[in-house]
Amino acid sequence: MNRFTTARQEIVDMCRHLSDHGYFAGTGGNIGVRLDDRLMAVTPSATDYYTMTAADVPILEIATLSVVAGEKTPTVEKALHSTMLQAHPSRYASIHTHQPIASAVALLHEMLPWAPGCDLTALGPHVALVPYRPSGTSMLAKAFARTILPDVYAYLMASHGVICAANDLKSAAGMLRQIEASAALYLRKLIQNRSTLDKQVRTFLLNVLDKTESQGA
Ligand SMILES: [Zn+2]
Repeated sequence: MNRFTTARQEIVDMCRHLSDHGYFAGTGGNIGVRLDDRLMAVTPSATDYYTMTAADVPILEIATLSVVAGEKTPTVEKALHSTMLQAHPSRYASIHTHQPIASAVALLHEMLPWAPGCDLTALGPHVALVPYRPSGTSMLAKAFARTILPDVYAYLMASHGVICAANDLKSAAGMLRQIEASAALYLRKLIQNRSTLDKQVRTFLLNVLDKTESQGA
């Protein structure tokens, strides 16, 4: 599987980039990349992103999830990525995160509108909502498969996090940033419009939001 070394290394590099910028925390968050018509590479399960190497990145059949290369166990969320790639044949990269602001919005169990100015052709009409199921389970994979639509590329998973798909890893990372910015705008409006909120609490919450947003640039 040496011919896929570049793609595997790109996954390693992206994991470090997302960890450095607060999108991946600890070993939370994972990636799936389409390699060809049949195969995808995914992040290994419970592996430190800073010690991970390209050889650690498992290669799986998209349709069956059986491992064809790599020593490590694939991420528990591999079925989410195979579902995403199968539903969007033109998209090559799928990323799942627990990024802080969008994960906070995911607690509300609502769909998220994109912030004004976003390119909806690339992003899809909105960030759709996948109903809550425990993470890493086949129940979550099934709920995602039932929710997914061919023209919707970004999803909040209720009380959990985010998953999105783009043409390549770099574009997917850009999409994560747009999801986070849209989530910040959405929360900011909710906090500002909540008339029953104590003025000091409101100021505190808006400050927390500003700080969190500036850290995840
Ligand atoms: Zn997760």
